[in-house]
Amino acid sequence: MPKPKIAIVSASGCRACETTILDIHYGVNALNRWSDIRFWPYVLGSSMAELNAIDRLDVCFFSGAIATEADRELAQTMREKSDRLVAIGACAAFGGMPGLKNLRKSAETGSSEGDGLPEGLELPAPEKTVRALDGLGGVDRVDAVVPGCPAPVNLVWAAVSALVCGGEADARITYAAARLPEEMVRPILSGLGPPSGAMFAGEKAVCATCSRKKEEKRFKAVKRPYQAYESAGRCLLEQGLICQGIATREGCGGLCTGVGVPCRGCYGKPPAVYDPGAKMVSAISSTFETEKPAEIQKIADDFVDMTGCFYRYTLPSQCMLMKG
Ligand code: SF4
Ligand code: SF4
Ligand code: SF4
Repeated sequence: MPKPKIAIVSASGCRACETTILDIHYGVNALNRWSDIRFWPYVLGSSMAELNAIDRLDVCFFSGAIATEADRELAQTMREKSDRLVAIGACAAFGGMPGLKNLRKSAETGSSEGDGLPEGLELPAPEKTVRALDGLGGVDRVDAVVPGCPAPVNLVWAAVSALVCGGEADARITYAAARLPEEMVRPILSGLGPPSGAMFAGEKAVCATCSRKKEEKRFKAVKRPYQAYESAGRCLLEQGLICQGIATREGCGGLCTGVGVPCRGCYGKPPAVYDPGAKMVSAISSTFETEKPAEIQKIADDFVDMTGCFYRYTLPSQCMLMKG
């Protein structure tokens, strides 16, 4: 059997998601053994001329948001050439942090972004709005998604193992299976592969896997992580930290909350939540300790950049969803 031909590429992002592929440790060896890596500019220094010479790829792992013309062209080329296109990380999956640029007024966008560059150097031409990989004008569909910022090693390995190694690599998918829904693990282990559009993450909210104790305390004031709070044991949201576990898809096992850092929502929303921002506002405001308008206003005034906070990783995909 010929080995599957694969490509690994980045658009606009920080490249940590590509680095995660290197972080699968002994799995990188398996990736090399089970596949023919045809295009990987970051590691192999592959050129666009090499990409143009490739007719067909089995799998492309794509990280980064679509923020420039070059990103869009790369996304469309990889879609055309690849049987399976996999979004790796929050930028490719939802638009990620580069997507917060969409909050700027369009007249401002791109106006002064070349200032200060050495002569002869130009920034890539920006797109009007930043989008997720499957956003309008990017590509029409992706075949699988591994969320997270960065996408975590165990779930990236699950995707590689399922899509490239047919679930049969030495370190089998069971390594990550505890975090995946059973209906996804079964077809992968039986060799059928993951269902189309598979999301390599859980289906509930982070709160469902967080070990912190909820005590039904009232919300008194917004706290920032540098302020004093009880870091062990109690729910962070109930202590005033803006933890978004209730509006975020699980799969990380409460990686941040376990060490006292509030969840910032990097896995995107779970299926049962339509609008994570509205969910957070409703969850917090329904537990305000006071009913006096002036005191409520005072608490609300302490929220910093509510839009940037609640849609930090998902603004482009959420806007697409709400536009219908
Ligand atoms: S999802 Fe996060 S880690 Fe991955 S490329 Fe984007 S900013 Fe970097
Ligand atoms: S709100 Fe945050 S700290 Fe509280 S239970 Fe949910 S994930 Fe844990
Ligand atoms: S706790 Fe939240 S922010 Fe942290 S890794 Fe998990 S989903 Fe991402």
